[in-house]
Amino acid sequence: MFYQTEGIVLRETAYKDSDKLLTVLTKDHGKVTLKARGVRKNTSPLKSACQLLAYSEFTYQEMRGQLIVKEAVCREMFPELRSDIEAVSLGFYFAQAAEVLSEEDYYDPALLSLLLNSLYALAKLKKPQAVVKAAFEWRLACMAGYAPDLGGCAICGKREPDRFNVNRGVLQCASCQHEEMDGLRLPVSPGTLTALRYLSSCEEKKIFSFSLGEEAMRELCGITETYLITQLERGFSTLELYKSLFYTNNYYGETYE
Ligand SMILES: [Zn+2]
Repeated sequence: MFYQTEGIVLRETAYKDSDKLLTVLTKDHGKVTLKARGVRKNTSPLKSACQLLAYSEFTYQEMRGQLIVKEAVCREMFPELRSDIEAVSLGFYFAQAAEVLSEEDYYDPALLSLLLNSLYALAKLKKPQAVVKAAFEWRLACMAGYAPDLGGCAICGKREPDRFNVNRGVLQCASCQHEEMDGLRLPVSPGTLTALRYLSSCEEKKIFSFSLGEEAMRELCGITETYLITQLERGFSTLELYKSLFYTNNYYGETYE
């Protein structure tokens, strides 16, 4: 039986001499594992369409329990990312996070669209990496079922509190404490809070249309990143790689204990 669908390569693993196993987030079948034979040879016609972060049209066939790529035509390679090590490593992080949250045989159009829009914003629209990263992380956390409550302080109800509790996903005032509301609390300034509320409620196509001063952007990035990894209870090797590259060249993301 043959299948045909579009999808983006989230992960590639070398297999045997010249094959690859690809984890692909597809439009029609959710996450699938495809075997691409001979793709590591320079002469392979599948080579470019089967690269990490390539969005391609795949034709594949089920053979003895495996899905074998028969044809792959690249629709978007995001070449702008591939010439920028920082941007591409941020893209790899998005792919790894999407892989963690995607499922086999379950098509989640919102997840695929968030991933593609984020890569597009980085590659084509040249949006600042901090904006795209914060928007991606926040929307992904919301999509994964961890939409935070940003109405006001979870303890006293004050509308503009100054802490965000990343374990509970709620706002609190620095002075409001409650034993059932413990957890890591990060400072949230009024500008950052406005940005978080915007990211939680705006239309999908507007998630990258905001700006913040340098200080508030740093605060926002610390919150979105810490919130996602706290809620998912895991770190990402690709995020560590991105940060190691980023910190070499930029002053951004001081720690938020
Ligand atoms: Zn309070």
